[in-house]
Amino acid sequence: DFDHVIEALLNTSLDMDSLEPDSVLEERWIKEVVKRSGMKFSWAKLSDSRERPNRDVHRRPAADPSSLALRPPVVTIMGHVDHGKTTLLDSLRKSQIVSTEAGGITQHIGAFLVQLPTGEKITFLDTPGHAAFSSMRARGANATDIVILVVAADDGVMNQTVESIQHARTANVPIIVAVNKCDKPQADPQRVKRELLAYDVVCEEFGGDVQAIHVSALKGDNLMALAEATVTLAEILELKAEPSGLVEGIIIESRTDKGKGPVTTAIVQRGLLKRGSVLVAGKSWAKVRYLLDENGRALTEAGPSAAVEVVGWKELPSAGEIILEVESEQRAREVVEWRTYEEEQQKLQEEQSVIELKQKQHLEEYKKEREGLTHLSWRQRKSALYRANKGKFSVRPSEKMQRDEHNLPLIIKGDMDGSVEAILNILDTYDAQQQCQMDVVHFGIGDVSENDVNMAQMFTGSIYGFNVGASKPIQQLAARCGVPLRLHTIIYKLIDELKDELSSKLPPHV
Ligand code: GDP
Repeated sequence: DFDHVIEALLNTSLDMDSLEPDSVLEERWIKEVVKRSGMKFSWAKLSDSRERPNRDVHRRPAADPSSLALRPPVVTIMGHVDHGKTTLLDSLRKSQIVSTEAGGITQHIGAFLVQLPTGEKITFLDTPGHAAFSSMRARGANATDIVILVVAADDGVMNQTVESIQHARTANVPIIVAVNKCDKPQADPQRVKRELLAYDVVCEEFGGDVQAIHVSALKGDNLMALAEATVTLAEILELKAEPSGLVEGIIIESRTDKGKGPVTTAIVQRGLLKRGSVLVAGKSWAKVRYLLDENGRALTEAGPSAAVEVVGWKELPSAGEIILEVESEQRAREVVEWRTYEEEQQKLQEEQSVIELKQKQHLEEYKKEREGLTHLSWRQRKSALYRANKGKFSVRPSEKMQRDEHNLPLIIKGDMDGSVEAILNILDTYDAQQQCQMDVVHFGIGDVSENDVNMAQMFTGSIYGFNVGASKPIQQLAARCGVPLRLHTIIYKLIDELKDELSSKLPPHV
């Protein structure tokens, strides 16, 4: 109990600086320990979620088996197009319409409940097709316990039948086969079951454990047998959940209603959902205003496997999102704030790593270029080596890769071998004893490229081009990167500007 925990905490040597409330260490414990021990603790940490390592909320660990109660199965209907999924769902739904005051007007909320005369319940998800099933699986949220595989007896196993089997397999969800359209004269249910053998779906009459029920969705024949088979399988699966306590669930549909605002349909997976419960889903939270069933009836609570419309969301969460109940609105705000913050951080980090990767690539390219000089003509190579030997021009990147006051990194581009060499030759004659050194980090032929700009940015240098152009995007890139781009068509003007730039870099007292 509480005192016991506090006692235990007081007897451990706690590091108050790293102490954070989380799912294990409750905030009220920390408060109590601080109070009793008189230890210093920065309460600011608690009010600013950014300071905390993690203020998110997660699914709770599995509960004590003794606290679990049986729950109804949640069923998804799958199968090939036109084999009768929609018809089957409609017939099942109609079988439930009891005469209510509202006249039994059911609305589509993404799921509905079927109750057998014996009292057992089944929740059917009525978003047919694989899309919903797989998108939910992709989020690691499996809402389905059983798949009813509809196969038309006049058509047999088709490719979407096979896909459905695969979906169920990967999700580790057992299958019941509904052999449909058995009212048709050309129906051949035996053929369907034989064909299924090829996909390891072995029906009972072949010694397997897959139940196959012959139905007619259109006529409503044998639907009760199908429901009973589902209940039987659910019993074997022993589906259980905590019938009370904090709610965990999953959103199967979400929409904005003109009157009610953001509305979601949720499947409760654990705990008891009540009016007034505070829920978090993705980056949204809700204080539950209304709970409604598929007949539009208001509920006061909903337990495991129930499908309910939840009204009261601040923003619309997406289908597939996990719902978690928290203790207070304050906590809900905190979690949403944390998740938003974390997402921003992640985005920033991704952007940063893209930039870093790009820079690394440029650096690598640059190194390769430097090492091999293979892309140069023999004349260029000769002059590069010549310069390297003379030591006037550094052919290695300045280690610091930063502007050094006495160093002017240069990138020279020309229209021909000859013009580049001419410029380099003129630069050679420039007095090397000057206090400001030129560092030709790159030279080449052709228009100014993105690589040139990136290189210049990396070395904080300038680009000089003779008789070459720079496209509009390149000019904009250079402007954005703060890279001076100096294009000339007359050599001596280029040299003059270069000399001016060099002198401007000289220490003022010279
Ligand atoms: P889905 O694409 O799998 O949802 O298939 P539908 O439910 O839209 O059914 C496709 C067609 O098959 C429709 O014209 C239905 O009326 C028809 N159909 C569905 N079930 C049966 C059935 O049990 N018997 C007969 N004869 N026709 C059916």
